[in-house]
Amino acid sequence: MTPDEALQPRIETIGRALLGQEKSAAGEASTAERWIQAFMHRLAQDVQFRVQALRFIDVLPALTDDAELARHVGEYFGRDEFPLPAAIRWGIGHARSGPAPHVIAPVVRKAVEWIGQRFIAGEHADEAYQAIEHLHEKSRLASLDILGEIVLSEAEADDYQRQYLELIEALAPRLDTLGEKLQLSIKVSSLYSQINPLAPEKSSEAIRTRLRPVARAVRQLGGGITLDMEHYDTKDITLRVFRDMLSEPEFTDWPDCGVAMQAYLKDTEHDLKKLIDWAQSRPVPVGVRLVRGAYWDAETVIARREGWDVPVWEEKWQTDDSYERCLAMLLTHHQAVRPVIASHNVRSIALALALIEKRGLKPPDYEFQMLYGMAGALQTALTKMGHPLRIYVPIGPIIPGMAYLVRRLLENSANTSFLRLAFAEDRPEEEMLAPPKSGGSRSVHLSSTFRNEPVRRFTREAERREMAEAIGQVRSELGRRYPLIIGGKPVETSATITSVNPANPSEIIGETAAAGTAEADTAVKIATAAVQHWKQVSTAKRSEVLRRAAELLGKQREIFAAWEILEAGKPWREADADVTEAIDYLRYYADLADRMACGYAFDVAGETNRYIYQPYGVAVVIPPWNFPLAILTGMLSAGIAAGNAVIVKPSSQAPVIAARFIELLMRAGIPEGVVQFLPGEGARLGEYLVQHPGVHLIAFTGSMAVGCRIQQLAVAHMQQQGHAKHAIAEMGGKNAIIVDADADLDDAVAGIVASAFGYAGQKCSACSRVITVGNTHDALVHRLKEGTQSLIIGPPEEPGAFVGPVISASAKKRIMQRIQAGQTSAHLAAQVDISSYDNGYFVAPTLFTEVATTDALAQEEIFGPVLALLHADTFEEAIGIANGTAYALTGGVYSRSPAHLELARKAFQVGNLYLNRKITGAVVGRQPFGGFALSGTGHKAGGPDYLLQFVQARTITENTLRRGFAPAPSWRRDNGGI
Ligand code: NAD
Repeated sequence: MTPDEALQPRIETIGRALLGQEKSAAGEASTAERWIQAFMHRLAQDVQFRVQALRFIDVLPALTDDAELARHVGEYFGRDEFPLPAAIRWGIGHARSGPAPHVIAPVVRKAVEWIGQRFIAGEHADEAYQAIEHLHEKSRLASLDILGEIVLSEAEADDYQRQYLELIEALAPRLDTLGEKLQLSIKVSSLYSQINPLAPEKSSEAIRTRLRPVARAVRQLGGGITLDMEHYDTKDITLRVFRDMLSEPEFTDWPDCGVAMQAYLKDTEHDLKKLIDWAQSRPVPVGVRLVRGAYWDAETVIARREGWDVPVWEEKWQTDDSYERCLAMLLTHHQAVRPVIASHNVRSIALALALIEKRGLKPPDYEFQMLYGMAGALQTALTKMGHPLRIYVPIGPIIPGMAYLVRRLLENSANTSFLRLAFAEDRPEEEMLAPPKSGGSRSVHLSSTFRNEPVRRFTREAERREMAEAIGQVRSELGRRYPLIIGGKPVETSATITSVNPANPSEIIGETAAAGTAEADTAVKIATAAVQHWKQVSTAKRSEVLRRAAELLGKQREIFAAWEILEAGKPWREADADVTEAIDYLRYYADLADRMACGYAFDVAGETNRYIYQPYGVAVVIPPWNFPLAILTGMLSAGIAAGNAVIVKPSSQAPVIAARFIELLMRAGIPEGVVQFLPGEGARLGEYLVQHPGVHLIAFTGSMAVGCRIQQLAVAHMQQQGHAKHAIAEMGGKNAIIVDADADLDDAVAGIVASAFGYAGQKCSACSRVITVGNTHDALVHRLKEGTQSLIIGPPEEPGAFVGPVISASAKKRIMQRIQAGQTSAHLAAQVDISSYDNGYFVAPTLFTEVATTDALAQEEIFGPVLALLHADTFEEAIGIANGTAYALTGGVYSRSPAHLELARKAFQVGNLYLNRKITGAVVGRQPFGGFALSGTGHKAGGPDYLLQFVQARTITENTLRRGFAPAPSWRRDNGGI
């Protein structure tokens, strides 16, 4: 599959020459170098060691205390097992006191520094200059990259820009003397903290605002820049920034600007064609650095986890093949796109050289690029052959920088990664130079039948357009009135519930009829009659209705998401996720019902024992407004899948979404009377239904106060009504995230901000307490403040808005009162300015520090964008604080100590515990959701036991031995049980 198969002999000749030169160039190695080689070999070959070693290097910068460092060495490698250089190990072994923390810590730091220095030129401009000078002497060029990753606040983005400007200023005069031009590699994600595929124009604009002064300064020196390519989510934004910037008048004729493209992406060939078309209309060429791509593991894992199309080629040979096709394309169009061949792969380099030769290209028509510290012998070989070679030189503090490198470069733990190729493989020459070909498929197949409906990634323009159009369409349907539905028929009432857009309360979303007690009585009567038939319908048929509803909802997912945006104030991603969760519940409970229909057989000789399920009868479903579709659909579908007839009393704050879902359910074929739609005044109608003698089961999700009251009312009239009601109550939370002393603060800040302020903190799982451990407090507060201040507030219909309004005027008032009160007992550390949003129910994201554990801010659910920071001296104390409320819903821990994570697993008492990730966004079937203590009474929603709450079990025993004869037992699959 070589672009031109006739080239193969020439590729082999060039390749052998390169490999020959490479061998002869490999000289005597120093002790440190020999140890690094051995370390990297082991890293490449031993999976277990690789995981532990890379994780340890990742946590090392946070371990400033010697004892902490020694503890982590023990936890990661077992006692004394850190693979230190032999001489140091011998020294420690012979130290009289044994390897005490103050002995082992500096030695371990030194060893990691050795590795770091191999790949990072240093921290300061001086060291960067020395690296350039050294490369210059060897006839190599440099491209400097300031190490860093996605920034979490605008202050951090400013800082990244400043570092580049200072570097330019410091290097400019000295490079001039050397006769070198400055070349920088820049990551756009470091120039804007709110980069978002949902808002590509805004992202490009914000990035260019910071990029422009850097580009201008480099250009004035006659130098150039290349935009690095990072994760797939930012790919289109990077390409957009590149084109947008080069279309600005001052840069249209700049010949020294380039962009990296990753051959491992399936999109890249197409993107490259588009880029070439665009570049052909420019007066000067643009550079394209062709790399394979460094985030293969992350791209694959994230896409598989989310159910998205995997954006990277899944087989190594496919990436190689793509690299070759893109390479050929680049060299063919070298007048429009200047090829920069970035590879350590001998076959790719040989192919490039053969094509360059065939086309008669001469420097500077092309350039090779390699990484600092990698493939030294190959670098020498290429330079000796007279080809222009540029080295990508990372600049940064060595140990923290090493952690970035681990994540950015060494993350490919797959066997075929560059690490393995560069340090561990000694393959035959023919194999290394052969064209890429399939080695047979290795795709992963998951075993379970249930699949989550993937959320939208919004990287595709079409996805963004469809959502925008759906909002337009929904807007044209606002203001409609929705009747009650009882027995499949519309029922009007004189009373009305009006629903408004919380971002713009003068916009009426719609209104519904509002039921009183008379309608409630009728609904119970009709449901009682309907259930007699519904419970006889086979489970398979009932499940079929749910699956049809899931299909219909899937077809209208943008429309339903648009209703959520306008009625519940959900930002795009949250709205989309709520709809997919509803689809998941429909399918998941249909599957579960099918499985439960089998019941159990506990037969013995001469006796059958059948364990079967039957529905309760009439169920009342009372959902909250915050997941207006998902929670309603979950409780409702579980009820009907199990064979109950259901009365849905939706929340008065999101009744229109509920009404539209009931309409959809009717289209899916739910028989008349099985589901009644009964909006009405929460407390009055809700309590009437809960106490109604005809009701058998109540499924409630909402606040603790209402949940507790429902439990009480449900047991009050048992004797009069002749049955005990079963009440399920999923309630609130006061969820905490513990940030350990060794936590990755980049991850922790991002996770806390998302968990605390996503959907304006109005999720039951939202983080409302952060407990810092040891000396993390100040750094975390500083970064959280900046991260919070950088959030984009706005009406949820704007695609880039991260924080929208709260649900109602009364919710706003209540939250503001809590903030007001908090200021007397704690320190208000940050509050976002929302003065430009005086129309909707906006509340400023607010951060309190110095909060006492007994303070209301630390004990009571606020249900808004308010976060309280507490402090603990030890991890154990932090767990105690986290457990010290009436709730037990969700919790999280950011820690890189295996022992502390283990302790959290055992002692952190919450229904859903998340380690090193955000604590919101539970997925059906994957993270069954729900709490205990005063957070909930039931089995987890979206989990294997959930349906058990909607059925009663019966055991039927039959003596089959009659007159000495017992037939063989038989068992029907669907026994008409549930
Ligand atoms: P809420 O308790 O005010 O209302 C929930 C539902 O109960 C609504 O339909 C309401 O009309 C109805 N209701 C109100 N008073 C009633 C009464 N006396 N008798 C019967 N029904 C009554 O809660 P909300 O404001 O809609 O939702 C936010 C709350 O829900 C938060 O506390 C949140 O933590 C909780 N929540 C919990 C979960 C979970 O899975 N644990 C999920 C989402 C929300």
